[in-house]
Amino acid sequence: MVEKSMTGYRGIAGSILDTFRVGIWSDVVIESSKGRFSGLILPRSETADDKHVVLKLASGYNIGVAAEAITKITEHGRREAHYKIPEKQFPVDDRKPNVTLLGTGGTIASRLDYRTGAVIPAFSPGELYGSVPELADICNLRTEKLYGVFSENMGPEQYIRLAERVGEEIRAGVDGIVIGHGTDTMHHTAAILTFMIQNPPVPIVMVGSQRSSDRPSSDAAINLINAVKAAAEGDIAEVLVCMFGPTSDEYCLLHRGTRVRKMHSSYRSTFRTIGDIPVAMVDPDGIRDLRDDYRRRRDDRDVTINTAFEEKVTILYYYPNMQPDIVDAIVDNGYRGIVIAGTGLGHINKPLYGAIKRATDKGVHIYMTVQTLWGYVQMYVYETGREIMELGVVPAANMLPEVAYVKLCWALGQTGDRDEVRHIMLTPISDETTDREPYNGYLIFQGAIPEVQEFLRSIKR
Ligand code: ASP
Repeated sequence: MVEKSMTGYRGIAGSILDTFRVGIWSDVVIESSKGRFSGLILPRSETADDKHVVLKLASGYNIGVAAEAITKITEHGRREAHYKIPEKQFPVDDRKPNVTLLGTGGTIASRLDYRTGAVIPAFSPGELYGSVPELADICNLRTEKLYGVFSENMGPEQYIRLAERVGEEIRAGVDGIVIGHGTDTMHHTAAILTFMIQNPPVPIVMVGSQRSSDRPSSDAAINLINAVKAAAEGDIAEVLVCMFGPTSDEYCLLHRGTRVRKMHSSYRSTFRTIGDIPVAMVDPDGIRDLRDDYRRRRDDRDVTINTAFEEKVTILYYYPNMQPDIVDAIVDNGYRGIVIAGTGLGHINKPLYGAIKRATDKGVHIYMTVQTLWGYVQMYVYETGREIMELGVVPAANMLPEVAYVKLCWALGQTGDRDEVRHIMLTPISDETTDREPYNGYLIFQGAIPEVQEFLRSIKR
């Protein structure tokens, strides 16, 4: 019997289940014009369409089979899944460091609630201890769910509260902070927190996962264990991102908050330090520095929180044949700052010059970054670069476009004075601009070396 109210299956998908007398948790083989699929029928999300039957395959992946294409469903049994994470009391040990985990949402905070189809957070210390007991070997963990959002929904309101909560936790004496966050925009949040939380005495480690913990290949536990280790025991008192290093689960990399970027939509090893090398590697055995120019852990609690933020700032990603009306529209809508992601060394086409001049004359602050991500804006090489600077556009060295964007939001939140904004933008706080790129930074510890070694090993076999 199909329990329609429980499954959420209605319409054509509901009738096909009725026809073959199967329902949720039926272990089935589905024959369809699109192929043959074996798996477990999962409840349908309340908000999903009524045209697909959702199957959990043996691989752990979920797929939707178009109801229309189904010719036969055979039931081989029933397997009701229980997704309640066992809650265990997180043990307290006075000799261990105290870490606070602030949750904002994202895949790392998620497990699928098969009743609603929604991804819901699992973030109490008891639940975390139940699923990742190794955490108790490292620290005493306190958790607090600030938000339960996917990271595209993060914005100034969330950044400000997060920065303030980090400040309060630091003043209350914690030894380290971990921030659980969706991976998609983690680099934006890492950058703005670097600017908002000045001079922190303890590590502030952001962590996420590309695959949720109900999937066999999940990176949630390893990323979390390593992040908690870096926060509890590490000496690097900066905003860092701790994520999967190479493609195997050997270690995580600690990336500086202003130089990190998500670079692959689905790989677990998606985060890379751009224009530099990561700060350290971390695995359950310890933290190994890759450089020593970082701010060290301190005992004092002198942290400055500056949550200034101007929302009327945008990134303009240049493409050939961009029309000036785009720039005019930005200005006419009251934007105070524009970060251009230009081509090559920092270029845009001549037809835009008039609109750019109009913008800077109206007091809009315009900064140039490069789409190549690696390398510097260099506006003296070609005449066009000089012309663009004459229009009032300021080159932003090797600042990543997203970092320049959040820094301009932060700067304009503090002042509208052209020279002051320029001073804030071009004075590095934590390596958002650097004097030079390391000559081998493009390859080393970017995931390339272990993969190259593995490739060489495989062809030598
Ligand atoms: N869409 C998710 C997010 O950024 C992806 C993730 O958490 O990895 O919130």
